[in-house]
Amino acid sequence: MHSKTFVKKDLPPGRSTVTELAEFLSQAEQWLEAHAPRRKPTAELQWGEGSDSVALFRNLSFEEERAHIDETRAWQQAKSDAGYGSISWPEEYGGAGLPLSYENAFRRLESGFQTASTHEAVGITLDLVAPTVLAWGDDAQRARYVRPMRRTDEMWCQLFSEPGAGSDLASLSTRARRDGDEWVLDGQKVWTSGAQYADFGYILCRTDPTSERHAGITAFIVPMDAPGIEVRPLRQMTGGSSFNEVFLTDVRIPDANRLGPVGDGWKVAITTLGFERASVTKGGGGGSVGTFMRVSALSRHLGRNDDPVVRQQLAGLYIDGRLRALTAQRAGARLKAGGVPGPEGSIGKLQWTEGMRRTSDCVSTILGPRLVADSGEWGTYAWSEFVLGAAGYRIAGGSDEIQKNIIAERVLGLPR
Ligand SMILES: Cc1cc2nc3c(=O)[nH]c(=O)nc-3n(C[C@H](O)[C@H](O)[C@H](O)COP(=O)(O)OP(=O)(O)OC[C@H]3O[C@@H](n4cnc5c(N)ncnc54)[C@H](O)[C@@H]3O)c2cc1C
Repeated sequence: MHSKTFVKKDLPPGRSTVTELAEFLSQAEQWLEAHAPRRKPTAELQWGEGSDSVALFRNLSFEEERAHIDETRAWQQAKSDAGYGSISWPEEYGGAGLPLSYENAFRRLESGFQTASTHEAVGITLDLVAPTVLAWGDDAQRARYVRPMRRTDEMWCQLFSEPGAGSDLASLSTRARRDGDEWVLDGQKVWTSGAQYADFGYILCRTDPTSERHAGITAFIVPMDAPGIEVRPLRQMTGGSSFNEVFLTDVRIPDANRLGPVGDGWKVAITTLGFERASVTKGGGGGSVGTFMRVSALSRHLGRNDDPVVRQQLAGLYIDGRLRALTAQRAGARLKAGGVPGPEGSIGKLQWTEGMRRTSDCVSTILGPRLVADSGEWGTYAWSEFVLGAAGYRIAGGSDEIQKNIIAERVLGLPR
């Protein structure tokens, strides 16, 4: 526990002086009590009660998804205004300037309350782009963009992948040509999550056409309503269209929108990919206790608990969840001790997607034909949205194969 006294100047009345972590948490709990209902413990999950959705990507129309994002933003804004939005972030950028341990403790407390579920566009804005702009932006860019991002007043998307550049991102070919004080962007991006709801894009372009691979790439900030940008949603096998193709034709942006030095875009991108992996180890998903409790309840409901194969699969799922939590704890402890993010990022991402794969296998065994035929029965066919969505996360944020390459080469020191 921290014995230091943290004096906060711009927190609401009653929170002018925060002393110990325990006091901080007690105030946080009071605030949460006043703003969200408590979540029922998963152990008390009643079969047939409430929503049975376990979707990883939602099957929503444009308007429904916009409403979902707005709900998530409203929660982030309420938290920000109360001083809980970006607890470990510097105060000048909308944070509370408290240690990371306070943020982690708040997150654990918050998970006991029923709050708006998150959306990948919000995660990209808060966890990927905001820390990148803080790390690489100049003073003017940090002052202009970071605070509205942390409050989700403005939403961002990440324009990295292209039809010919995914895992091999360094082969990207979207061009940025210098024209006086401006840059002119031409090319195509793909799989851009949330582009249709974003105010700004963080884009990687090739600025030196004679360069190859990692050299000659530069990062930019591009307003998504700039003339020459066309966003075309892609329909996914889970039904919705959360990602898009983005076409750029003669898009003009000022040099003031360049993020980092010309030619240093690869270094900027690597910073973001590090934040992306770190965000996975703190997120929810396939290995979470809530998911395990649901699978276990499903097995009980269908009378499959005595089946040795199902029992074995359930035990594997439980162990996966515990290992994942411990890995996240180890990553947190390393950061708390002042270390830099380590291999836990890649390992955590693999554990997360492996947990989803095992969950998919287990529910497929339990459900059989119920997984593919919608009989209207609560808590059964709903799992199809989990099973179909899990494949996306095995690819997003660096595919499983690429994570294994990283672990092999950088952690185990194996040859390429
Ligand atoms: C849900 C989701 C959200 C996404 N959101 C965004 C976004 O917001 N912004 C953005 O820019 N991109 C986004 N992406 C794109 C994502 O980053 C890419 O899909 C990913 O990097 C893989 O690239 P690719 O699809 O071109 O596949 P490829 O790179 O063509 O890979 C195809 C297959 O080959 C394997 N492979 C490739 N290279 C190797 C290798 N060296 N060794 C072993 N196996 C290899 C891969 O693992 C994969 O199985 C998203 C993707 C998904 C699924």
